[in-house]
Amino acid sequence: MLEDPECKYLREPFFEEIYQILKDFPSDFRNDLLIRNIRYWQQKLKELGEDLKIVVQKIAILPLEQQRLLEAVILKIYEKRYNFIVKRLNYLYRLKNALNKKNYLSVEEIKKTPIADVAIQLNLHLKPLGSNKFVSLCPFHKEKHPSLVLYTNTNRFYCFGCHKKGDVIDLVMEVKKCSFKEALIFLKEAGHEVN
Ligand SMILES: [Zn+2]
Repeated sequence: MLEDPECKYLREPFFEEIYQILKDFPSDFRNDLLIRNIRYWQQKLKELGEDLKIVVQKIAILPLEQQRLLEAVILKIYEKRYNFIVKRLNYLYRLKNALNKKNYLSVEEIKKTPIADVAIQLNLHLKPLGSNKFVSLCPFHKEKHPSLVLYTNTNRFYCFGCHKKGDVIDLVMEVKKCSFKEALIFLKEAGHEVN
């Protein structure tokens, strides 16, 4: 069910990192992951309460002095365990709220960011070519006459000089020499500016 309940991504300092990673995943995947984790810890909390009840019943038959001594020890252990679980649950609730607050875009939605807008953000100089094309000097090879064509209907590019091609994510990765994830972040930010 859950890979490793102690795994480091549940630790508080990783909140930002996990938040950044999860928000790039499709929302149904990350919701499923979070719900499974939340259920796991809710179950642990329930079990902890049940364990405590059993332990209290067991020590109730002991002499009063022993009872008090054991109670103190048990409560200390219980408190530690309780805080441990509650901290993780609060962290997961916080993560879930943060991820659901804004309308995060899926990779497919990001691919729909208008390619001409993206190219402008990447400092390419565009010239319209017909009704659904733009041309630009290709940033991937040296040239005097523009051979990079942006197709606004398919939202893809193709260079007739060096034959590079792809979608908006590929364009960002190629121009900025960045990773897929960095390209997604760039496009999300660019998308906000365009809107
Ligand atoms: Zn080229």
